[in-house]
Amino acid sequence: MKRKYFVKIDLDSIEKNKDAGKTISYFLRRQTIYFETNQELPDYFKDGENCYITEQCWTPDGQVKIRGVINSDELLRICEEKKPNIKYEFERDIDCIYHAPIPEYSYNFENIEIRCVTCNKRIFLSDLNFDCVEDNFSSTICPECSKWDCCELEYETIENALIRKNNHPIKMTELADKFRKA
Ligand SMILES: [Zn+2]
Repeated sequence: MKRKYFVKIDLDSIEKNKDAGKTISYFLRRQTIYFETNQELPDYFKDGENCYITEQCWTPDGQVKIRGVINSDELLRICEEKKPNIKYEFERDIDCIYHAPIPEYSYNFENIEIRCVTCNKRIFLSDLNFDCVEDNFSSTICPECSKWDCCELEYETIENALIRKNNHPIKMTELADKFRKA
């Protein structure tokens, strides 16, 4: 028969999330450096290597207009040094990710020891494997004998853990009161 284990939350690991309830996060991707000039590019601009020319045209009075993207930190460094007559524009790309609301608390479970129903070996919770084959899923695969669902786990809810955590200091005060009265 499969043994059932109750997995408690590690009370010391509970942390209140400052971004609780948030459903959008932003990630800074990379920086794109655009350049523009109305002169011929210096020879250290190598199209297709350290830069990409995206637009090149001539105005009716014969003046060149070049736009492009700088593709190398080294080229940027040279430009800082030589100061060619070029205008730059820095643009940061930001990704916006929509996700499920961030829960109010984050926490870990206690890494208890269990026994596999088949091989009877003692295994730490963190050593259990998980796998998914077609529609079947198991997060309790024995690392020793590969038995799927090698134990049954019931996880403590955060609500319950918070009650336990909050009760702790009260008990200590009660003890202190008793001590004083005695
Ligand atoms: Zn096993």
